[in-house]
Amino acid sequence: MNLEGKVALVTGSSQGIGQSIVLRLAQAGADVVINYRSHPEGAEETLAKVQAFSAERNSEGTGGNCHMAKCLNAQGHTIQADLGSVTEVRQLIAESINHFGKLDVLVNNAGIEKHAPFWDVTEADYDAVLNVNLKGVFFATQAFVQHLIATKRPGKIVNISSVHEDLPFPNFAAYCVSKGGMKMLTRNLAVELGALGITINNVAPGAIETPINTKLLNDSEKLGALLNNIPLGRLGQPQDVASLVAFLASADADYITGSTFFVDGGLLWNYQEQ
Ligand code: NAD
Repeated sequence: MNLEGKVALVTGSSQGIGQSIVLRLAQAGADVVINYRSHPEGAEETLAKVQAFSAERNSEGTGGNCHMAKCLNAQGHTIQADLGSVTEVRQLIAESINHFGKLDVLVNNAGIEKHAPFWDVTEADYDAVLNVNLKGVFFATQAFVQHLIATKRPGKIVNISSVHEDLPFPNFAAYCVSKGGMKMLTRNLAVELGALGITINNVAPGAIETPINTKLLNDSEKLGALLNNIPLGRLGQPQDVASLVAFLASADADYITGSTFFVDGGLLWNYQEQ
């Protein structure tokens, strides 16, 4: 997978899956915009890893993995923006384009979840989840597409969805609504954007070892029950998700659009068996 010359924006990339996606895209040669909401130190850590990686590749000279005169030299840039605000989402896209001169790849990764039985979900929590997970994605994608249309270029959109775009998750109704909406957004836009040479796909993780699952990771009983439901017998790692995103962002995936790809160790089909 070669992403040299491409510029990618990954929302919510100060930690977890987003950080891993940034590193994988940079490893493939892309310049990367690292977005964060409230943890600049996480974004700086991601940036430092991109820079260290590039420096390491370049110090290999023209030997080793560095075959071409122009060695991989991915650049990174951090931008603060709250994906729950459409104004900030539009500023994020504009600032990314302003910094690197263009955008080729958008990875809608930022996401949150709130736990509550359906009858106790507050309007504030519903809005918080839907604003980041669906409204932010909708308008980030719209601003990205407007840029591609204006510059007459193709592009790639990868959404980080969830097995819960299909699988019910009691006590997380708003989260499931947001990911189910993302599934239909992807299918709709695959049809609407195909003629423009823009592809859009969902990557749907199962249970991945990231801070979003801290509570679960500290509850040995719940964790054991979950592991029993994962045919491959382990939690996923952020890199398991990132490698698929890099593929979907590359020219190798030019003929793929409107699909969801599960990265769940078999979890979804196991639940559907029960
Ligand atoms: P995480 O909590 O570690 O990371 C989420 C990221 O989103 C963080 O960087 C956070 O700062 C960012 N974010 C949250 N709200 C934001 C906002 N308003 N503006 C900008 N950034 C914001 O979680 P993760 O596991 O890395 O999750 C990444 C994505 O993967 C999410 O969309 C999540 O729904 C999805 N996912 C995760 C799992 C899992 O098991 N970890 C499973 C399925 C789907």
